[in-house]
Amino acid sequence: MKTSHIEHIGIAVASLEKAIPFYEKVLGLTCYAIEEVKDQKVKTAFFQVGQTKIELLESTDPEGPIGKFVEKTGGGMHHLAFAVEDVQEALNQATAAGCQLIDTAPRAGAEGLKIGFLHPKSTCRVLTELCGHQ
Ligand code: ZN
Repeated sequence: MKTSHIEHIGIAVASLEKAIPFYEKVLGLTCYAIEEVKDQKVKTAFFQVGQTKIELLESTDPEGPIGKFVEKTGGGMHHLAFAVEDVQEALNQATAAGCQLIDTAPRAGAEGLKIGFLHPKSTCRVLTELCGHQ
């Protein structure tokens, strides 16, 4: 798999409106996009930090994955996303290496990227996302 950098860090929050001021006023970052990703039942807010982004995730459905995560944990660090050249190829290579996958085929993520998740059982308990333009 060709992994170039950490594309983003996903952080689950109960409310974007309440979380954004910390990133803007305390850390001095700028929220440059808010986007709903219907497939994942979330609204996302993005901040650029060098080559990496912070992706805040607010659930739009209590039964969605982020809704359940926030209900269970109160929110916080949710996943690490690595930029790869070709998401399908990377998922195939992860399978071949014995990784358990959540997604066997890429799906639509925020910012027009293709994304696929690896199961935390196979990734030292860190939910891992692979994302890329292909
Ligand atoms: Zn993500």
